[in-house]
Amino acid sequence: MASMPSPVPRAGEGRIYRAEARSNMAYDQRLGREEVLQQLIEMSHWLGVESRGLVILGEGNTSARVSDETFFVKASGTCLGTIAPEGLVEVNAPKVLQMLEGPELTDDQIKANLKDAMVSEGKYLPSIETVFHAYLLTIPGVNFVGHTHPVSVLGILCSHQWREVTKERIFPDEIVCCGIAPAHLEYHDPGVSLARAVRQAVEDYIKQYQTRPKAILMQNHGLIALGTTAREVESITQMWDKTAKVLTATHAFGGPYYMAGKYVDRIYTRPDEEQRKKLIEGH
Ligand SMILES: [Zn+2]
Repeated sequence: MASMPSPVPRAGEGRIYRAEARSNMAYDQRLGREEVLQQLIEMSHWLGVESRGLVILGEGNTSARVSDETFFVKASGTCLGTIAPEGLVEVNAPKVLQMLEGPELTDDQIKANLKDAMVSEGKYLPSIETVFHAYLLTIPGVNFVGHTHPVSVLGILCSHQWREVTKERIFPDEIVCCGIAPAHLEYHDPGVSLARAVRQAVEDYIKQYQTRPKAILMQNHGLIALGTTAREVESITQMWDKTAKVLTATHAFGGPYYMAGKYVDRIYTRPDEEQRKKLIEGH
């Protein structure tokens, strides 16, 4: 078996980061493979309800960590809203992660490698975006990942000011659910090039904030929510949808009035907000 790359520090990068590494360990002891799959199906269905405006048709993809060795990821050609167990493919994580190293790969090479990484033969092939899922699921505290193209968020991400307007926070629950700031990522081709850019954006974020991001905003593309639980992926996605709508609405009245940094920091570290976050996420 190929050795796993260690793209991010596993511990010691600050108080919050260490706490998340611990919660990942506790989580690993709690959920078995079938439960992971069941929760991933439910999360995918929730994200895929078209009336929520998060994805349409075959847009978006999801994944969940089973162990250090394998994870489930959405297959190409399936829809989140109606996905069945065979639409979520179990793949070998170290094999997928190897693609992040080494030379650039063509689409056909990526497809062949993804096919080779499948744990068992199946009707569908893993999504072309499997590579960034593999990387994100190596981050301590990340067990579920949901990638969507919300109408509200895309309205911002497809604009000239996408980065500037999303740098600061506008209301407390945004900070409680989605963290101190999102990671930002410029447009990249899907596949390995995008996965490498995602890894770079997360590593830069960890250096800057001493914690991992809960959300990644991708220019002209969409949102990635990183959760310890499936419910957390849903709440981050739902709250970013709300944030984008509120942010857009503020432009009717002179633009956003951002919260002062001292309030943002205080909310992010207050113990009662930790309780509130647990309540919002229902666990
Ligand atoms: Zn996408």
